[in-house]
Amino acid sequence: MVETERSVLLVLHDVSPETWPDYQPFVEAVDALGAIAMTLLVVPDFHKRNPIVTDAWFQQEMERRLGRGDELALHGYYHCDDSPAPRTPRDYFMRRIFTWEGEFYSLDRDQALTRLHAGIQLFARLDWPLHGFVAPAWLMSPGTREVLRELPFSYTSDPQHLFTLPDFNPIDAPGIVWSARSAWRRGVSKLVGDRLEQKFQTAPTIRLGLHPVDMRHSFSRNYWLQLLQRLIVNGRTPMTKADWLTTQLTAVRNAA
Ligand SMILES: [Zn+2]
Repeated sequence: MVETERSVLLVLHDVSPETWPDYQPFVEAVDALGAIAMTLLVVPDFHKRNPIVTDAWFQQEMERRLGRGDELALHGYYHCDDSPAPRTPRDYFMRRIFTWEGEFYSLDRDQALTRLHAGIQLFARLDWPLHGFVAPAWLMSPGTREVLRELPFSYTSDPQHLFTLPDFNPIDAPGIVWSARSAWRRGVSKLVGDRLEQKFQTAPTIRLGLHPVDMRHSFSRNYWLQLLQRLIVNGRTPMTKADWLTTQLTAVRNAA
């Protein structure tokens, strides 16, 4: 890893017309702290009931974020696993127990290409810059990985890395996420989050992966806001994923 400024990447998952109201108070609180750039993972038609192409209000909200220096990344297309029912125990676990949201987990090459194309076209039509694709639940089929090498994205990610595209070179980018849908899960998430914060203390960057459900409970919402503030006070610079990737690639080039 090449020495660069230490950073924090604030990432909001599952951004859509349905979930944006959950995020709004949090985003306002972050804005009140100063110029803090974040990455919004936008779903073109969340659960097939949130088409952003016809939603002028949502488009305006996203354009306001772009104006503040935020990044919009493509996060699936529908964000639900609508493929035929799983047939093997492993697939059953991955698609029904681990998550129902692994949209790109079982798509073949052509299906992945169709959805990725539709997403790229939507961003182009709205005149939104596009750098990254993040698969729902970070699950990617071999066909998805194959077409990602051919499309104009500069990165994708899993829970612990960013991968440069088209070559899939991994760059360490450890992350903290919560499972906030019940009180005991929030309790466990807080303990795990505190431990990871210690563990990642010297990491060049830390990714904070927030979900809409985290915003619906003051315990988890306050945790994220306070963690963000702590990391900034400790000298980390908030950046978008795309900007951070650029600093990493520039540093590698300069070191070569
Ligand atoms: Zn997601």
